[in-house]
Amino acid sequence: MLLLPRIDDDLAAKAQAAGCSYCGGRLDVADFPRRPLGVGGDGIEDNYVSRRSFCCAVEGCRRRCTPPSVRFLGRKVYVGALVVLATALQHGPSKQSVTKLSALLGISRRTLVRWRRWWSTMFATSRFWTSLRGRFVPAVDAATLPASLLTRVTPVDDEPPLVTLLRLLAPISTRPHLEASAS
Ligand SMILES: [Zn+2]
Repeated sequence: MLLLPRIDDDLAAKAQAAGCSYCGGRLDVADFPRRPLGVGGDGIEDNYVSRRSFCCAVEGCRRRCTPPSVRFLGRKVYVGALVVLATALQHGPSKQSVTKLSALLGISRRTLVRWRRWWSTMFATSRFWTSLRGRFVPAVDAATLPASLLTRVTPVDDEPPLVTLLRLLAPISTRPHLEASAS
């Protein structure tokens, strides 16, 4: 899991180096406090208490710039890796392992069901998915997202496929969220 904060640091450093997207001004650190929803597993939350964000230093602009994040996906503060992993597992392995996973992460079955619905409705019909799915031939099965997508990503070096997938999904962690295009 420590890999994810490191990737987020890279994404944040890149955004800060680029400067304010409105005026090109210097960006100062102005992180957001965050409280992940629906997650109560021990030790997981420590990596999710804040999200990297910047504020333009130029008087009269002062706009906020929040870089993409592999840990925070979508409008709601979901814990990226867990959302992908938990919903992916829901399609494959037995009911028993889903129950075990729920218990381990402190996520209720209801939360899992809600996440799964998000993938099959909001995500599957989004502009983001439309811009991404064309890269996969043959097509990724939309009905079994994100499990189907997880099996199709091409990992860079030795990184886990889950990390590759999160990097691919990072654009939807910023505005305009699911309206974003795949990078
Ligand atoms: Zn600015």
